[in-house]
Amino acid sequence: MNTIDDKAIVKDYFNATGFDRWRRIYGNGEVNKVQADIRRGHQQTIDTVVEWLKNDDNLANLSICDAGCGVGSLSIPLAQAGATLYSSDISQKMVEEATQKAKETLGDKHNISFMVQDLEGLTGKYHTVICLDVLIHYPTEDAAKMISHLASLAESRLILSFAPKTLCLTVLKKIGEFFPGPSKTTRAYMHREKDIIEILENNGFKIERKAMTSTRFYYSRILEATRNSEQ
Ligand code: SAM
Repeated sequence: MNTIDDKAIVKDYFNATGFDRWRRIYGNGEVNKVQADIRRGHQQTIDTVVEWLKNDDNLANLSICDAGCGVGSLSIPLAQAGATLYSSDISQKMVEEATQKAKETLGDKHNISFMVQDLEGLTGKYHTVICLDVLIHYPTEDAAKMISHLASLAESRLILSFAPKTLCLTVLKKIGEFFPGPSKTTRAYMHREKDIIEILENNGFKIERKAMTSTRFYYSRILEATRNSEQ
């Protein structure tokens, strides 16, 4: 069991070099080619989830927990579309940046409350719990515990994204092309889709929608799972 180590490393990373790197990638300024590719891929993941939720046409009534919210790339557009957001991240620097961005985009009064909190410590009940591109920082056995905890907070729906473990990505990772640059200082864990689906099912959820984002350097499988009504 190495959650503590991974978590401590991840927290330090996203309060230091990781914060600078990812703030740039998630921003609009100039970046190198690899970072531009990751920016494009990540934006596609965000757009997919925003489009799913907007198409349901009930955002104004929803409470959404965005666990590991980063700089607010998902929380801000969802709040803009009328949802009530409870957004948190293990990194204080990320939360400060997200708070600033929300203020710039939405003004002083907005429907997002931000908190510095690791997702295992989150409490409360939310219609929808979303956790995008966080599980990559943890091995599958730890991701399973995290998903179970997030499932316990979700009244109706859980949306996750993760780097899928496929032969092709395993080879890319081995030759060091995947997640190049300073992010190598944290480990990147890929997860088998069937393992993640099994974890969701064991927590009483069934898969509703799926999507995949793949660019040259960014791979993210998105799963929307809803609570089984017969349970
Ligand atoms: N979800 C955001 C997005 O898609 O824009 C950010 C993704 S970024 C790659 C990963 C984020 O997860 C970082 O902001 C990091 O601080 C956060 N994180 C990592 N481990 C966490 C944990 N155990 N609890 C909460 N946040 C965590």
